[in-house]
Amino acid sequence: MSDLPTPSIPTAELHLHIEGTLEPELAFALAQRNGISLPYASEDELRGAYSFTDLQSFLNLYYALMAVLRTEDDFAELAHAYLARARAQGVRHAEIFFDPQAHTVRGVSIGTVIDGLSRALDEAPQTYGITTRLIMCFLRDESAQSALTTFEAARPWLDRIAAVGLDSAEVGNPPSKFREVFERARDAGLKCVAHAGEEGPPGYVWEALDVLGVDRIDHGVRCLEDADLVARLVAEQVPLTVCPLSNVRLRVHERLADHPLREMLTAGLLVTVNSDDPAYFGGYVGDNYTAVRDALGLDGATLRTLARNSFLAAFIDEETRAGYLAEVDAYGG
Ligand SMILES: [Zn+2]
Repeated sequence: MSDLPTPSIPTAELHLHIEGTLEPELAFALAQRNGISLPYASEDELRGAYSFTDLQSFLNLYYALMAVLRTEDDFAELAHAYLARARAQGVRHAEIFFDPQAHTVRGVSIGTVIDGLSRALDEAPQTYGITTRLIMCFLRDESAQSALTTFEAARPWLDRIAAVGLDSAEVGNPPSKFREVFERARDAGLKCVAHAGEEGPPGYVWEALDVLGVDRIDHGVRCLEDADLVARLVAEQVPLTVCPLSNVRLRVHERLADHPLREMLTAGLLVTVNSDDPAYFGGYVGDNYTAVRDALGLDGATLRTLARNSFLAAFIDEETRAGYLAEVDAYGG
C-alpha cells in the first residue's frame, strides 16, 4: 500500500458485503460477548489466516467467522463499525449487501439481521453523513428453493430493502438458476443486481442481464473476453461494480498492475470502484482508489470519472444524485 494519503474523493460504495467488514478485533469482541470460541489464539493469528488462494478458500473462513454474529446488537455494531470507516474514506452513499441465509442457517432470524442492520443505517445520515440502501443477496451455492423461501421470509421487511443480489461461489451456479426469485423481486418493485463474470464466464453476465434482468453487474471483469458483451454493456451503460483489491487477493488478477480497470474505462464501460469484503481483502474503498491510482497511474480526472460513475450507478433519486455529482465536481484532490 502506498504511503501517499488516501484521496478521500466523495464516492458511493455499491459492492460491499457487511459480513465482509468483520475485522478481527470485533470478531473477538463479539465471540467473547456471545460465549463462542474461535479457532484462533489471537487477532494476529486470525489475520494470518487471511491469505487466500481463490474464492472458495476465502468463503470457508468468511462463513466460519460469521458464527460470532448472533443478536440485533451484533449486527448494529457491525454496521456502525463499517460506516465509521467508510466515512473516513470518502463514502457519501453506501449500498450494502447482506446474506440472510448465512445467518438463518445458524438459527439467527432474518428479522434479527434486518432490524439490527437497519438500526445503524437509520442513524447513518446524521451520525456519519452517509445515505444508505440495503441489498438482500441470495447464496448461489444454495438451492433456488432456499432463495425463494428466504425472499418470502423477508416480505415483512421489503420496505427496508432496495434490491436483491446474488453472491457466493459463482462457478457451477449460473444466474439462470435464480430466474423465479428475481422475477418475484422485480414484481415487488425491487431493483436487481448479481455477481457475474468474476470467476464465472462471460456467459453468466449475459444470463444476469437477459434472464434475471439486473440493473447492475457486480464484478463483471471477465466481460472483456467477449467483445459482443462489452458492446452491449457499453450501449446500455450497465454499471459494473469492480473491486480491484479483492480481484488481486482472490487471484482473479495476479497483480494490481495487471488489473484491466483502465482498459474497461477506455472501452466506455460504466465502471465503479468498490471494496467487496474490505476486512479480508486489505482495504476499504478509499484504499482501493489509492491502490489503483498508484498501480495503474490514474490521474485526478480519471479518479473523478470513477467517483461520478458510482453516483450515476447508485439507486438514488435524481435530486440526491445531482447533489453528490456536484460534490465530486467540486473535489480538488
Ligand atoms: Zn462481492
